[in-house]
This record gives sequence, C-alpha cells and structure tokens, in this order.
Amino acid sequence: MNSHQLFRRSRIRLALWYAGVMGVILSLSGFGIYRALVQAKWTALEREIESIAGTLHDSLEPILPASEEPTAILQQIFPELCLVGQPCNMSPTLIQRHTTGISDRNTYYIRLFDDQGKLLAFSPNQASHLPQILNPATWQTWRSSDGIRYHQFTTILHSAHAHHMLSKTSSHPSWGYIQIGRTLEPFDAEARRIQWIFAVGFPLVLSLVAISSWWLSGLAMQPIYQSYRQQQQFTANAAHELRSPLASLLANVEAVLRMPQSDWQQIQTMLHTVERQGRRLSQLITDLLLLSSIEQNTSSEQFKPCCLNDLINDLSEEFLELAVASDIKLSSHVPTHLIYVLGHEQQLYRLVSNLIANAIQYTPPGGLISIDLEQRDRTVIVMVKDTGIGIPPSEQPRIFERFYRVNSDRSRKTGGTGLGLAIVQAIAKVHSGQLSVESQLEQGSVFTLKLTALAYG
Ligand code: ADP
Repeated sequence: MNSHQLFRRSRIRLALWYAGVMGVILSLSGFGIYRALVQAKWTALEREIESIAGTLHDSLEPILPASEEPTAILQQIFPELCLVGQPCNMSPTLIQRHTTGISDRNTYYIRLFDDQGKLLAFSPNQASHLPQILNPATWQTWRSSDGIRYHQFTTILHSAHAHHMLSKTSSHPSWGYIQIGRTLEPFDAEARRIQWIFAVGFPLVLSLVAISSWWLSGLAMQPIYQSYRQQQQFTANAAHELRSPLASLLANVEAVLRMPQSDWQQIQTMLHTVERQGRRLSQLITDLLLLSSIEQNTSSEQFKPCCLNDLINDLSEEFLELAVASDIKLSSHVPTHLIYVLGHEQQLYRLVSNLIANAIQYTPPGGLISIDLEQRDRTVIVMVKDTGIGIPPSEQPRIFERFYRVNSDRSRKTGGTGLGLAIVQAIAKVHSGQLSVESQLEQGSVFTLKLTALAYG
C-alpha cells in the first residue's frame, strides 16, 4: 500500500468514526428532545383536563339532586347534556361554558355516572363506542375502533345532601362520578409531526456531519502527512548525503588496490582522500545521531544551571586560532555580572559553537565576527554577528531545515553537511529558546538566540 492510500484510508476511518460518534450523540439527544417535547405536551394536556374537571366538579357539587332517580333534575341542571334513554339535544354549551379560554373546546366530552357506575348523562360530542359501564381509574387512555386515542379523567362527585343520604338510605359515600375526556388526535398528530421532522432532519444533519467530519479529518491528517513527507524527505536526503562520500571512498580503495605497490606517493594521496571522506561520513552520522537524540530528548542528563559568560569566553578562545588562520577578527562582549540559564551545558556549547563555526565559514578574509552576550530583564540574548556573504531573504526561512544549504556549491566547498543549523534549532527548542536570523547579502548575518535567565536569590 503506498503512503497516499494509507493516508486516505486513515482519513476515511477517522471521518467514519467521527460521523459515527456524532450520529450516536445526535440520535440520543434527538430522542431526549423528542421525549421532553412529548412529555411537556402530555403534562399540559392532563393539566387542562384536570382543571376542566375541577371547575365542573366544584360548580356541580352544591346543586346535585339528592334523589335516587335524578334524571329529571339533571335535565334541569344540564339541559345541554343527553340523558341516557332520552332523545339528545345537540348543543354542547355546558362543556363550552366550562372550557372558556381553552383552545379547542369541541375536543372535550363529559359523562356523569351514578354511584353504582351506571351512565346517567353524557355530552353529545362524546366518542362513539365509549363503554357504558364506569371504569373508576382516575386516568385512562383507550383507543376507539376507528383508531383514535382518547384520554379521560374520572373523579367522584359528592352531593351536598350526601351525609344526609348516607345516614338514611344509602351505604355509598358518593353521589356519583364525573368523567372528562378528550380525543388525543391533535396530540398524536403533533407527535407524528415531530417524528417526521426528526426522521427527515436526522439524515440531513447526519449528512452534514459526514461532510464536515471528512473535512475535519482532512485537517487533522494534514500535519501528520506533512511530517510524514518531511520524514521521507529526510531519509532521502540522508541516503543521498551518505552515498556520495561512500562512493568516493570505495572508488579510492579500489584504485589503491589496483595500483602497483611501488607508486607509494600516489597511494598516500588516495589514502588521504579515503580518510577525509571517512571522517566526513563519521561526522555526518554523529550529527544525525545527535540531532535525533536532541529531538527525541533522550539525554539522561538533567538540566543544570549553566554560566553563559564562561561558555562564550571558552568558545571565543577556542575559535580564535581558526579565525586568525582565516584572517578574520573575532571579538566577544560578555558582561561582568554572571548570567545563568537552565540547560544542557554540552548542547548549549554545541549550539553557540555551530553559529561561530558558520560565521567563520561564511565570512571572507578581513571580515569581523562578534559574539555578544547580554541580559534584558529575564531574557538572555546571545548574538553572533558577522560581516560575511549573507543569506538571501528568500532562503532565510529554510536554512534551519535538515540538509538544506543555501547554495550547495558554496557550502560543499566548506565541507558543510547542512545539519549545523538544524542542530542549533533543535537545541534551542529543547531549551525553550527563540532563534532568529537577520541577514543581507554581501553585508553579513546576525543570528540571535533568546533564552530565559535563571533567577538567583
Ligand atoms: P552547513 O553545514 O552547510 O553550513 P548549516 O545548517 O550550518 O549547514 O547552514 C545552512 C546554510 O545556511 C548553509 O549552507 C549556509 O549557506 C547558510 N549559512 C549559515 N550560517 C551562515 C552565515 N553566518 N552566513 C552566511 N550563510 C550562512
């Protein structure tokens, strides 16, 4: 599988996972919202039925007749109710009067039962096929033969004469029952409407989630892909860098082996080349190992306080000979008070020495190099300035890349590997430092390193 396919498959997998997880979250929250909406409507509906029943109950109780045969009096009280066994008046004004302010009055029906549960009267708009015998459960939901659901509330009615009646004739404490019910058609229609909205909206939202997860997984893969490409580039560059000196080394060894023993002078020259290439290879491998150990932070050594004054004085002394040999004036400016930073002394040493070595390498004879150390508040600044060949602005962002050389010819002449500044950058990063470069072609360059000073006292 090539890398392109691998990344594509990972992206698809990531997008699918993301869409799947989002789908589950969305369905759970959708279901929760649906339940909450339906429950809220159901509660409002029951409250409405209960309040109508309460109002009717309160206004009926004082005027209920005491007689055991109440139909005649009931007709007087409720002329709009139909009495069982008698012709029905079709004007449901009673229920209308008691449901003033309620949106859909015709959806309600009322029924009156005696204390034996026998139906006495009912409103003309009651649902067909309603059972004639009372079911005394407070709340009931039932479905008619035509599939319409009804919900009803039943409560006991006590007559004002109930106590009187109880003591004389009847063993029943109540006068009878009142039942208020309503069709659940609008409620069910509303619930179905919400279900439809979810059924249509969910796939739509899920498609949007799928599209955005594809896009997001692309974004997430980008840095990984980039770093993978960089790694590939690095391997290719490393192989290339190792191949050239190795090829030259092998060619020289083969030539030496074929040469007559008498040609000692020639053999020596070739052996020198072999040695030089061998050293270059060894240096390259050492640099690569150092770079990877810095980047992986594998050093077992702990950060310790390092005195930068000593470090810079030592380095300028060390490079003085090389600078003099190259006819370059090297100077350093170090303050009298001691500046400490927390870090790996060896790595910091390597960092500054790489900068000075580069300054010497890329400064023609007669040039100046200065190494400055200063402290501003808690920021320590190390500056390596030279009056060398400079770096074109377009190349400046790339010089810290591994194996990158501004102009391979000019640095190959000086024996550079292109790893020097990559090592500098890696060390600065490990020390949470900031590295920057300012340079002008043929004018010179300034490399500035900012670190945080160690506070003493
Ligand atoms: P090299 O081993 O080739 O010197 P570096 O990583 O140290 O590799 O530097 C990368 C490139 O940056 C070099 O090829 C060189 O062209 C440029 N460079 C670095 N330091 C300087 C400097 N002080 N002056 C001019 N060019 C520089």
